[in-house]
Amino acid sequence: MLGLMQNQQLLISSLIEFADRHHGEGEIVSRRVEGDIHRTSYREIASRSRKVANALDSLKLAFSDRVATLAWNGYRHLELYFGVSGSGRVLHTLNPRLHPEQICWIANHAEDQVMCFDLTFLPIIKAIHSNCKTIKHYVALCNADALPKDSGIPGLVSYESWIGAASDQYDWPEFDENSASSMCYTSGTTGNPKAALYSHRSTMLHAFAGALPDALNMSARDTLLPVVPMFHVNAWGLPYSAAMTGAKLVFPGPAMDGKSIYELIESEGVTFAAGVPTVWQMMLGHMQAGDLRFSTLKRTVIGGSACPPAMITAFNDVYGVEVLHAWGMTEMSPLGTVCTLKNKHLPMSEQDKLKVRIKQGRGIFGVDMKIVDPEGRECPWDGKTSGDLYVKGPWIISEYFKGEGGNPLVDGWFPTGDVGTIDSDGYLQITDRSKDVIKSGGEWISSIDVENIAMAHPAVAMAACIGVKHPKWDERPIIAVVKKPGAEVTRDALIAFYDGKTAKWQIPDDAVFVEAIPLGGTGKMQKTKLREMLKDYKLPGT
Ligand code: AMP
Repeated sequence: MLGLMQNQQLLISSLIEFADRHHGEGEIVSRRVEGDIHRTSYREIASRSRKVANALDSLKLAFSDRVATLAWNGYRHLELYFGVSGSGRVLHTLNPRLHPEQICWIANHAEDQVMCFDLTFLPIIKAIHSNCKTIKHYVALCNADALPKDSGIPGLVSYESWIGAASDQYDWPEFDENSASSMCYTSGTTGNPKAALYSHRSTMLHAFAGALPDALNMSARDTLLPVVPMFHVNAWGLPYSAAMTGAKLVFPGPAMDGKSIYELIESEGVTFAAGVPTVWQMMLGHMQAGDLRFSTLKRTVIGGSACPPAMITAFNDVYGVEVLHAWGMTEMSPLGTVCTLKNKHLPMSEQDKLKVRIKQGRGIFGVDMKIVDPEGRECPWDGKTSGDLYVKGPWIISEYFKGEGGNPLVDGWFPTGDVGTIDSDGYLQITDRSKDVIKSGGEWISSIDVENIAMAHPAVAMAACIGVKHPKWDERPIIAVVKKPGAEVTRDALIAFYDGKTAKWQIPDDAVFVEAIPLGGTGKMQKTKLREMLKDYKLPGT
């Protein structure tokens, strides 16, 4: 017997319709490429999303055709989120930090039909457009008068004149909720990038689960600043959860430096922010230098790479901001775990609470996790045994776009490539990427642990731990360090800093100082590149 409930499909268009009706006056504030601050509302975004849908119809775009964006976080990008997916097309967010050739390869692979880009990225478009075989329409996200003349890009139009000519009357189509809604290519550290192809259903369920109190705890009383880019896994689903809850949205545009982010938080009364550790490192540096404090910020979700404990402590103890450490990946839409405390943790000392907070957190409803040993047997949830992390759930890929790479699943589970432990309360702690773990004398050393200790040193801006060959131990860890501007620390002082903080054999054998650690397009440290950089390095005494 089937239930007797209305069989309404879960569609992204319902989010903006809801926000329009229930939070029409809710503000959307954007720092624009033009440098100014722009203000609009959910009502206006809804109206302009309908114009986007009409404008796409007039281009005769078919259902599931891909519309690419190369854009910062801002209101026009948000309109494309709803207008493109809501009208049945697939929003393809391209990462402008990739090499132009790679962007072109990805656009061809996705068979993008339309390219909407911020003027910042005009040089990229100029460099690649003649090789982008499938793109028929180029739209610059600007006013008509800002449209560059003689750009050499055929048929280039401004976004404002493009949607300005379209009606804001539009009946969002009803279709199968399993239809594709958006796509994002993974960073692709090896081989060609592969795409996760999200559906309306997966996006909606992810938005529901992400907003829950023990996940990101979002509400209409929040002012949300997603610093995490809208070109990286849909800004962790925040634009969708924001529309679902009616939270005020603040977009940083291209200005991601510490000063600009701090000023935006203060001027807009941001209560909740989201971003990768490197962004917060820059902002905390700016605040420290000027002895600044927050007046409204309550919590921040940090993920994308391990959040150093020193950062959690600084936010908590100095600035009174709760850090939600979260873990996920492109293939998971991306949310997998969020670290929120349980009742039993509340009476604990701050130091003991920190031991929980530094973990990546509990699986949110919808995400099943297990850790397995090399034979594929499930490891116990004892907080000690580490294993390869596998996940499954309705917003985790079943395969990559166009079946690239074959079947990625093992008995229905997606192997994440991460290694970690899970404790008896269900808290996951990531210790490494499987390819980054260091094996010394038959024992594993977590590169994240080694990095976290270095990051707690006041002179260290960034630290990356890699294994180097050792004649006796097979591999030994070394730490590559970027110093904070004007700060000093010697190799010996840094190594001595590890004393008493970890087991002796886990202390790195050497510290090398570098100008910069190579970062990938999504702000993650690229250890393959670092290893290449240090390929002539030899451990002292070997
Ligand atoms: P991406 O698909 O580019 O978002 O990268 C996903 C990968 O980033 C994961 O598989 C992890 O290796 C890493 N990652 C994400 N969040 C965290 C975190 N909180 N701690 C450690 N690693 C993380």
